[in-house]
Amino acid sequence: MYRGIMEQEKLPVVPPGCSTDDPETIKEFLTKARAALIAVGIVRDSVLANGKDSGKLSGRIIDSDMHDVGRFLNRLLGLPPDIQNRLFELFTSILDVLVHNARIEGTFDSGIVDMKANSVELLTTPKTVHVDQMSGASTMLFTFTLDRGITWESASSMLEGKRRDGLGSASDGFYESKREWLGRRHFILAFESTASGLFKTVRPAVGESIREMSLSELKTKYRKLSSLEKARTGWEDEYEVSSKQCMHGRKCKLGEYCTVGRRIQEVNVVGGLILPIWGTIEKALSKQARQSHKRIRVIRIETTTDNQRIVGLSIPNAAVETVLQDLAWVQEIDD
Ligand SMILES: [Zn+2]
Repeated sequence: MYRGIMEQEKLPVVPPGCSTDDPETIKEFLTKARAALIAVGIVRDSVLANGKDSGKLSGRIIDSDMHDVGRFLNRLLGLPPDIQNRLFELFTSILDVLVHNARIEGTFDSGIVDMKANSVELLTTPKTVHVDQMSGASTMLFTFTLDRGITWESASSMLEGKRRDGLGSASDGFYESKREWLGRRHFILAFESTASGLFKTVRPAVGESIREMSLSELKTKYRKLSSLEKARTGWEDEYEVSSKQCMHGRKCKLGEYCTVGRRIQEVNVVGGLILPIWGTIEKALSKQARQSHKRIRVIRIETTTDNQRIVGLSIPNAAVETVLQDLAWVQEIDD
């Protein structure tokens, strides 16, 4: 995005409020965007060009700023609402295109979290949590339900499919963990991936793991099950238990908010106009108990039935209440 604004590269999307039929609108937007980035110190050492490009501002962006989403969003806050919102909109639409392409090419960079699950649905109609008085644009809270689980039926047909295609290896199959976790053993399906020697693992509660396992790790931690019936019972039981409970069991410190190893979970995303409530979100996150919840995460999520796509900030479940309360308070002061 920065490179596009600095006209070092072509932007992958048409900037908000601009039209390809009217190149002037784009030029005007880029000029404003550059001035804004200079004003907040993201573009440094700016110089005003003479001659052919007379009046055109240029400068440089240091490498660490180039990849720092948090800093970009923070600096945006210092800008007037109009350019602030347009820059943010540009940012999210570029993000959406990049993630989409990366997914097709299978080279997804982890900077932005792409929420994926077997089933992703909107739990309720999106809630308007803030309306900007200047632009009339609103901030929405989307609550999704994700089911990451794999049923016994689909797990067994995955395995059968491999065998039918002649791609199976002798170590493919269902495994049981040698160790117990809070009184339970865990069940997995493992099969050799295309990178030979490494195994893909699929779990009843969370589906396929990103990380692949070596055969020796698999054999150290798990025991292969020869009885399909035993695998089925274990798998189905774990599928059921994990539906609403995290892997730490009932005594988990985070209680109902913990989603580690939980099959069905709620994901809250703030989308639409998010900059006016940025400060509120940052404050609520800073109070979170878990370190990973303190960091602002930009996520992209797509519903599985009607392919609605949202790019926004993820709000940990434990922080939703606080955010909503603080926002109501912000609104009262505005009135
Ligand atoms: Zn837990």
